[in-house]
Amino acid sequence: MIKHCCARMQAQVDFSCPDHPELDACPEALIRYSDKFREYGLRIHDGGSGSVAIAHCPWCGATLPVSLRSRWFDELAALGIDDPLTQVVPERFRHGALWRDDV
Ligand SMILES: [Zn+2]
Ligand SMILES: [Zn+2]
Repeated sequence: MIKHCCARMQAQVDFSCPDHPELDACPEALIRYSDKFREYGLRIHDGGSGSVAIAHCPWCGATLPVSLRSRWFDELAALGIDDPLTQVVPERFRHGALWRDDV
């Protein structure tokens, strides 16, 4: 597991709710963290699963790591995988292993 900037962010990333197994429906779930993209976002509670990417922590103000979303797609495309939703994605692309290797 990676360490997040502060206890509030850590708590949000680890957050789970007994009343809302699907956190998009939980008003207390504020942050969506994508490990494979190393990306933080604010959940948009409009009934969908949207979020808006953020560059700084809303609590401690720390600068968050740069999202690797485009690198993730670029590296997959280099392997000939241009549609990760329908094609099989190698294991190391699934859980952040891609970028954890080089930090
Ligand atoms: Zn923080
Ligand atoms: Zn809830």
